[in-house]
Amino acid sequence: MTRAINFGAGPSALPLSVLEEAAQGLLNFKGTGIGIAEISHRSAEFGDFLTNLENLIRTQLNVPPTHSILFTQGGGCGQFSATVLNLLARHRLLHPELADEERTLDYVITGSWSKKAAEEARRLGGAKVNVAVDARPYSKDAKSFDNIPPHNAYTFSPDPALIYYCENETVDGVQFSNEDGAPTSFPFELLPPNTLQPIVADYSSSFMSRPIPRLADHAVIYAGAQKNIGPAGLTILIVRQDCIVDVDAAAKLGAVPVPLTMSYKTLADAKSLYNTPSVFSIYIAGLVLQRMKDQGGMPHYEEVNKRKAEKLYAVIKEGEEKGVFQAKVKEGAGRSWMNVVFDVLGEGALSKFISGAEAKGLKALKGHRSVGGVRASLYNAISEDQADQLIAYMKEYLAAST
Ligand code: PMP
Repeated sequence: MTRAINFGAGPSALPLSVLEEAAQGLLNFKGTGIGIAEISHRSAEFGDFLTNLENLIRTQLNVPPTHSILFTQGGGCGQFSATVLNLLARHRLLHPELADEERTLDYVITGSWSKKAAEEARRLGGAKVNVAVDARPYSKDAKSFDNIPPHNAYTFSPDPALIYYCENETVDGVQFSNEDGAPTSFPFELLPPNTLQPIVADYSSSFMSRPIPRLADHAVIYAGAQKNIGPAGLTILIVRQDCIVDVDAAAKLGAVPVPLTMSYKTLADAKSLYNTPSVFSIYIAGLVLQRMKDQGGMPHYEEVNKRKAEKLYAVIKEGEEKGVFQAKVKEGAGRSWMNVVFDVLGEGALSKFISGAEAKGLKALKGHRSVGGVRASLYNAISEDQADQLIAYMKEYLAAST
């Protein structure tokens, strides 16, 4: 059996060793004689596995005791709604006297996913949506998501119920820098210090690819599993405990009611087992995270992921000089380590590039339909050697084109 190298954006590649182990677990989980997709989520064996999964995240990301780790379903899109509902309930309990139009939700819009999140907030109501910044006016054609805007472009509300950003924009290939104070980092310094700011970050496509800067300053960090961690179906939340609020008490004061499966308090009280969780996705995630720990955890992945991206951007740069490739996001503008997006220049060149890649087993490189071009997703399961195979192909393509 030959496996392709899968550069897809999600669902995406998983480590072969994990899939082989999981094949055994599907037949017999932890010596129980029952497969993982068949065993009760209330069994002792599964309970231990879930506790261990939480520990693997807590230790590798240094999650402080102020924050709970919760598991749920519904993906990133589910959290577009849940973050708004839970944090509006919190704001209502803190400021019951305010009318809906006096509450604000601040959105930092740097790509199509944060744009969608802001649209959902508008749909739900209960507060005004303030666009703290929109990256498009700062782009090369004034309408693209191709940059992280300068810090002086942001305008935050005085006491928002939520401050939202997407750390890595999967479609557009734009990512905040993880270097504190860098021009493309999230502008934490613009927020009043030493208060419990309601900062929400969508880490769907970069979770556990490198350490999370200022993790302790966040109210909610969330990620769907289907990029770096496991199969779709599992959503991971890191929630500061002051954001786990009694949503029913807030509803009595006029807040939008929160469905129980979306309430952080319901999830926390039930230790993520209020309803049947995605047992199989949790299982694979546990195997992936154990493997990550064995390989050296976040420092190892940060180093390897940085190198993979740098090498790929370097060959794109070579291609730019020869008029063959063109990166969508300029150097220094907030380039993603996870999703590298570029054009192949010339009539019919893109399909020639993609079919040449596929012939070498380099698959799922086609860019998102809204931006076109090529998108190479370099998630954790793509080894440096596999990234090098793509780079070698691009060098060959360059040589043949010039
Ligand atoms: N946010 C980001 C950054 C994403 O990449 C995605 C999915 N590609 C989503 C949110 C939506 O996630 P889901 O499909 O799990 O609802």
